[in-house]
Amino acid sequence: MSSELQLIHSEILGCTKCELHKSRTKAVPGEGPHDARIMFVGEGPGQNEDEQGRPFVGAAGKFLTELLESIGLKRSDVFITNIVKCRPPNNRAPRKSEIEACNPYLQSQINLINPRIVCALGTPAITTLMGDEYSASRLHGKPLTKGEFTILPMYHPAAALYDASLKETIFHDFQILKQLLESKDALNPPKNAESSGKKQTLDKWV
Ligand code: URA
Ligand code: SF4
Repeated sequence: MSSELQLIHSEILGCTKCELHKSRTKAVPGEGPHDARIMFVGEGPGQNEDEQGRPFVGAAGKFLTELLESIGLKRSDVFITNIVKCRPPNNRAPRKSEIEACNPYLQSQINLINPRIVCALGTPAITTLMGDEYSASRLHGKPLTKGEFTILPMYHPAAALYDASLKETIFHDFQILKQLLESKDALNPPKNAESSGKKQTLDKWV
């Protein structure tokens, strides 16, 4: 892991910037290659994630792995994180103030990893990254590109897991991710061939 990213992750582990630090077992910074071409952003750690300090390790994580495999990717190929790094008690939705307190960490991760594509999983991640007018039901599978940077909103795998029609939808959206990746490969050389040090900023797309 790059030392800058490592520094941010150790900050997260000791963070007390919002109320969520009081009830967490372990903060969950995220994991994956520091130069991943694809990044996944979920809503927040659940019980398993809170216990293990790792993102998407429960049922939703298993399904995410399956979705990745459906397009020939391994979990270890991608960087996975959440909009809040600490578990909201009883899995309630993270509050706006908590999302805002935690957002600088996510922005730093995006800037340092500099992925080609950011997949926003579920409406809270979608609104955090794209703005309040966006939602999973309206925009899933519709990539938006700003400069070299593409964001792909999707349903949350936990929502799709037990719903047959959403399940079909999310598998289809992963096919869109695959095509997007292939078209990006055609347009640009592989990331490690590019000059390093180029930073892009995201913040909200409003
Ligand atoms: N759901 C999320 O949004 N994130 C996780 O890390 C696990 C489940
Ligand atoms: Fe800090 Fe984010 Fe955890 Fe809140 S959720 S305590 S801002 S790391």
